[in-house]
Amino acid sequence: MSIAENILKVKQRIYDSCLKVGRNPDEVTIVAVTKTVPIEKIKEAINSGIKDIGENRVQELLEKRNSIENVKWHFVGHLQTNKVKYIVDFIHLIHSVDSLKLAIEIDKRAKKINRIIDILIEVNTSGEKTKYGVEPEKTIELVKQISENCEFLRIKGLMTVAAFLPDPEEVRPMFRLLRELKDEISNLNLKNVEMKHLSMGMSNDFEVAVEEGATIVRIGTAIFGPRN
Ligand SMILES: *Cc1c(COP(=O)(O)O)cnc(C)c1O
Repeated sequence: MSIAENILKVKQRIYDSCLKVGRNPDEVTIVAVTKTVPIEKIKEAINSGIKDIGENRVQELLEKRNSIENVKWHFVGHLQTNKVKYIVDFIHLIHSVDSLKLAIEIDKRAKKINRIIDILIEVNTSGEKTKYGVEPEKTIELVKQISENCEFLRIKGLMTVAAFLPDPEEVRPMFRLLRELKDEISNLNLKNVEMKHLSMGMSNDFEVAVEEGATIVRIGTAIFGPRN
């Protein structure tokens, strides 16, 4: 299957999941996750209508950015504070803020260039020790602290990487937890916090994520095929 066909198929599956729960498919953005994917293939995806590209390593993102224009860049991986300065002037959305320390560094760099940065808070909904993200019980406190201390950041929602389980139904509670957290935070009406987005769902579980309210799905393998 070609990349164009894969994208059509992903879109169709998002459409079907939306239909099932009465959502508007226009509410769901596909971020094509392009780690390890060569430039020509990324361009194919862009020619098929992809406008949002996600990377999880700063170095790789910077290299690719030289060859690819007119897309929105998303940072979806663990971000080290010493790398923030390389992406802060162009990044569209940072999905993976999970500490006040990181938020303060982004805010500091943002202030320097007078640019507002949109971020999501990454929540570890699976409880797996190997995964990044703030614990669900500590999420609201973190959001409050960022809201109070980081004037150049805008919290736009939450992100999670669910556990990798053979049956995607098993991850439904993790997506639901993220949605409930988002609603809870919304109700607090905090400064610089606008809970628009749930970034959840990857190739193996995006349909369940869409059913549970995902507004951003991060898809690699289902578009580009298996990574080496
Ligand atoms: C690699 C990656 C994805 C995409 O994973 P696939 O299973 O290939 O769709 C999504 N989100 C993050 C954070 C990733 O690192």
